[in-house]
Amino acid sequence: MDYSKPIEIAPNIFWVGYVIPDDPFQCHVYLIKNGKESILIDPGSMITFPVVLEKITSLISLNDIKYIIMHHQDPDIVSCYSTLEDIFPKRERYIITHWRTEMLLKHYQWKTPFYLIDRNDWKLKAGSRELEFIFTPYAHFPGAFCTYDKKSKILFSSDIFGGLTPEFELFAKSADEYFEYAKIFHMHYIPSKEILRYTMNKFLKKDISMIAPQHGSIIKKELIRPLIDKIKDLDCGLYLMDDYYDDLFLLNKVDEILNNIFKEALLTNSFENILKVLYSYLHERIPNIKYVFVKNDNYTFLIEDYELIKNVKPNDCKYTFEKSLKDETGLEIGTIEICCKSQIEKANFEFLDLLLKKLSNMLGVALKKEIMILDLKKKEEKLYEKAITDSLTGLYNRNFLLEFLEKKISESKRYKFPISLALIDIDFFKKINDTYGHLTGDCVLKEISLLLKRHFRGSDIVARYGGEEFMVVMPFTDLEKACSKMESFREIVKNHKFCLEHLNVTVSIGVGEYKNEKILEFIEKTDKNLYEAKKDGRDKVVCK
Ligand code: GH3
Ligand code: MG
Ligand code: MG
Repeated sequence: MDYSKPIEIAPNIFWVGYVIPDDPFQCHVYLIKNGKESILIDPGSMITFPVVLEKITSLISLNDIKYIIMHHQDPDIVSCYSTLEDIFPKRERYIITHWRTEMLLKHYQWKTPFYLIDRNDWKLKAGSRELEFIFTPYAHFPGAFCTYDKKSKILFSSDIFGGLTPEFELFAKSADEYFEYAKIFHMHYIPSKEILRYTMNKFLKKDISMIAPQHGSIIKKELIRPLIDKIKDLDCGLYLMDDYYDDLFLLNKVDEILNNIFKEALLTNSFENILKVLYSYLHERIPNIKYVFVKNDNYTFLIEDYELIKNVKPNDCKYTFEKSLKDETGLEIGTIEICCKSQIEKANFEFLDLLLKKLSNMLGVALKKEIMILDLKKKEEKLYEKAITDSLTGLYNRNFLLEFLEKKISESKRYKFPISLALIDIDFFKKINDTYGHLTGDCVLKEISLLLKRHFRGSDIVARYGGEEFMVVMPFTDLEKACSKMESFREIVKNHKFCLEHLNVTVSIGVGEYKNEKILEFIEKTDKNLYEAKKDGRDKVVCK
């Protein structure tokens, strides 16, 4: 495409702009060739004027331009007009604009009269052509509007649909690619999402064959709908994010990350996921990142290699970036530390600084919630621990043991393994109490418990069944094995010297193996064996 010549984008409609070398911000000028009532759209600046003038005069006589549309008053759009008017004064010519623009343009003291679209039913009849003006307030100027040519169905969209293109491209190649160029332009030009949506919805109601913006590239019909769909959801007002940093790409990237982290926070409600998403974004941008570490007085969270490790302190770090985290009341609740393997460059420092500045509050609130959840879990665990433990001996209590027994029995049925049970009762314990006092009695109970814990480990479970009675559940153990285990335990007790008084204590033990009976019958059977051991003179193990 020869950009040094006018390019006819539709019958009698020409692009007559000038390609400014090495500038992502190109400004287009369009001419509608319309006999004696030709229309020039956004005449341009002094930079573009010489070439624009040459192109126009190669198509028509300047005398034929009757209408000059000025979509707004920016210098890149109108500043050549003083010269144009000087070179070529003409009686019958009008500047077509909105009253809000006229208020500003009048300060140029041009002689050309204004035709105000808002006083003329938002329409202009130019010979056989009819133009319609679409009011797009605040996008990006209070009096902003676009021009729709009814004949060609082209929308001259002013700043809307503009783009910052790395290389000049008169026609956009694809919606996806052009969206990337238009994205930042809109996010920083248009003050809010509502304004952009309002504007896009107006366009959606129109039958548009082509969009010819002031900046960026012309958009052909097939790209219009996909592009509007993407643009209408953009977050606008990029500068609202921060008044210190003015790098649009930085603001845009941070905005994108924040959006995704907030989404993650809402969707998964998980502090771990929030940190992981943060880590992956940081890693994507700063590959020499080592870890993200959040700590508070009681908890730490370390993300390294995309994994969360709780309650571990990280190793030393070459370069750390630290920020305090505050909850919704402004109270400091912890800190976040980002560690890099080496010093980071200035651009990345600014990126981290802005991202964490924006994120610290949300992370603070999320951390506070996580701490509450973890504290609650700890409390629950403690309560559960308490509910299943005997306070004197620290062994499991009867309730827990019965639950455990029930669970193991159902497993043993499914996987076919033996289960044995033992009931252990201290002999003449009342006498110990009576002779040495209750405290010594308690001491004996505790020492027996220690012996039990030491003797029965792994899959065996020991509980205090009642006053001076204990129960041992032995999964994967048949009667014979259980019996010999108990026999050796009886021996251990017999030879043990208990408490300060060096007492001798003996125990009687009943052992039973589960034979598909009901659980209570199983316990009763074992208890009967204990009773027999007692009857048989105590310090005995009875297995049946
Ligand atoms: P046997 O050989 O027939 O089992 O006689 P025993 O005296 O051991 O049996 P008995 O059931 O008559 O007495 C159990 C005693 O255990 C009665 C009770 O005061 C005592 N006891 C129960 N719980 C505790 C406790 O937590 N601490 C102390 N010190 N004694 C307890
Ligand atoms: Mg007893
Ligand atoms: Mg007893």
